[in-house]
Amino acid sequence: MSLALDKAQEADAVKVTQINLVIGDLSGVVAECVQFYFDHISKDTAADGASLVFTNKPTQVRCHKCDSIFTPKDSDWSCPECHEMGMDIISGRECYMESIEVE
Ligand SMILES: [Zn+2]
Repeated sequence: MSLALDKAQEADAVKVTQINLVIGDLSGVVAECVQFYFDHISKDTAADGASLVFTNKPTQVRCHKCDSIFTPKDSDWSCPECHEMGMDIISGRECYMESIEVE
């Protein structure tokens, strides 16, 4: 989050109005917690009062056996094509700042 503030200062922004974040389902990041933390650290900075917009990124995995890519359901992590249980997680763990909007 301090990265967002650095970026805003680099851009010589007068005010950060919005910060767009991408949060993967598996990242363990809770939007409410980020918001709370952000409100705390952004006080009296260029980003004070900026709104956070969260984009949820679904989990995607690739089957070891047949290479099909799918989003596993809550408890069922077997491949819908071949029912193999071995797979690599290819997305869902990320948590990053996509962009910021300034005034
Ligand atoms: Zn498969």
